[in-house]
Amino acid sequence: MAATVPTGDAEARPSAPVNILLVDDSQAKLLSYEAMLGDLGENLIRANSGNEALELLLHTDVAVILLDVCMPGMDGFELAAMVRRHPRFQKTAIIHVSAVNLTELDRLKGYQSGAVDYVSVPIVPELLRAKVRVFADLYRKTQELERLNRELEDRVGSRTVELEASLGRLRENDRRKDEFLAMLAHELRNPLAAISNAVGVARRSGRSEERAQQAHEVIDRQTRHLSRLIDDLLDASRIARDKLELQKEPLDLADAVSAAVDSIRPQIESRGSRLTLDLPKERIRLSADRVRLAQVVMNLLDNAAKFTPSAGEIGVQVRREGDQAVVRVTDSGIGISPDALSQIFEMFYQADQSLERTTGGLGLGLTLARRLVQMHGGSLEARSAGAGRGSEFVLRLPVLADAALPATAGDAKPVEATSEPVRVRALVADDNEDTAETFAVLLGLHGHEAVVAHDGETALEVAERFRPQVVLLDIGMPRVNGYDVARRIREKPWGKDILLIATTGWSQPEDRQRTREAGFDVHLVKPVEPDALMTLLAERLKNAPQPPPAP
Ligand code: ADP
Repeated sequence: MAATVPTGDAEARPSAPVNILLVDDSQAKLLSYEAMLGDLGENLIRANSGNEALELLLHTDVAVILLDVCMPGMDGFELAAMVRRHPRFQKTAIIHVSAVNLTELDRLKGYQSGAVDYVSVPIVPELLRAKVRVFADLYRKTQELERLNRELEDRVGSRTVELEASLGRLRENDRRKDEFLAMLAHELRNPLAAISNAVGVARRSGRSEERAQQAHEVIDRQTRHLSRLIDDLLDASRIARDKLELQKEPLDLADAVSAAVDSIRPQIESRGSRLTLDLPKERIRLSADRVRLAQVVMNLLDNAAKFTPSAGEIGVQVRREGDQAVVRVTDSGIGISPDALSQIFEMFYQADQSLERTTGGLGLGLTLARRLVQMHGGSLEARSAGAGRGSEFVLRLPVLADAALPATAGDAKPVEATSEPVRVRALVADDNEDTAETFAVLLGLHGHEAVVAHDGETALEVAERFRPQVVLLDIGMPRVNGYDVARRIREKPWGKDILLIATTGWSQPEDRQRTREAGFDVHLVKPVEPDALMTLLAERLKNAPQPPPAP
């Protein structure tokens, strides 16, 4: 037997040599086969007997077997029949070599035992080479096809697993989306119900100033709540589309946290809980988005209040730990079970989804909070010793290098609203008649003169006659939209200096860009804070040149 026998495990490549087994009891004949087939570049393996050949085949794959028909012990026909019975050798070509002239009957016996071809002695070398080459190539191609087939099956298999997994995820998302929509409708209905009740109370309050005042407070509170829900929804959609942007500035963490705490303190204390704020003596400088940072802290405090039954303890502590600023928000509330702890930062997750739950919310707050903190290069973690044992939220943010904070930064105060009312002529255009009317009433209450229009074309006609100094324009309006109204006003000789304010539900950076391009000076997102609008008017118009009176 030849010294090196390549194992059959290696995958056959189209050009890789294959094994050719030469079986003959005569050494001389084996040598002559080797001489004839050496040029083919295949691996030639010798076996001196049928038994030796069988032993070899146990661990070697073979493409072609060249088999002497007449051998002592096991003859070629017997060996061929045994080889064929093994599934591994179904594709192996067997060429019988016969020294005697084979009769048709012999040939038939050979074919029945699984031979595929014959050569007679004396062997014509070219003929033998040609036959072996054809069978070796055929074997290689079959192997290659099988390999490709296996690869394809594997790929189809893994793709099917992936598809099944994404189908599962899609179904899960779909289910969560349905649940979320149901919850959203519910959460939006609650404040609407309160507003509707308050309107009923206001209408029937007769001369009772107190009742009317109460009703207004309810409307005010619930409108803010609705706005917050919508802001959260928009933020969640921005996060999903990777569109959330920070407006970072150098600031002092204690200032930012106390502002957030102050704004939510009445809400917490009205529920009977005690709120303590523990600030460090040193200044902790951060580069952060003031509004977003306040949103995170307020969200944590809002949750602390929501999940702490009355007369609980809520604490906020601010510290510097190395190069990190740490804000801890603790409460003595219902706590969080270890199972829920791993999920509370997931979008839409709420530990209590039962009908009996007493807290509102969409399950978005913590997702947004953590994402905002991560966008600042920080982290937000939750801890709780378990149900009924309170919770702690730990917010970590990188501290800004000392030199980076100008002495006055972070102390900037919003511009004070002027107390002097500035009387202006204003046009309000909105296809929602209630919105337009209430804007006009608000402006009137502040001493301004306001007219309304409910579509773009009327707005243009009214503007021509009324020559307003300020125009509040909704964007989506019948006949002519807000962008076009703005453009056409700007084209008028009297329209250059008008203060154009877009009041719209669209709040993305691209929307602001569009209003700027259409000629608006200011982009306000609905619902517009009345005080903020009045302050803006006063500020903008205080020093503006007085336009000519209406024609
Ligand atoms: P929402 O408050 O709208 O439900 P959040 O994302 O803010 O959504 O919170 C997700 C969930 O995490 C809450 O529904 C509640 O189960 C749990 N959770 C958050 N904060 C607290 C807390 N301070 N104490 C107990 N559970 C909390």
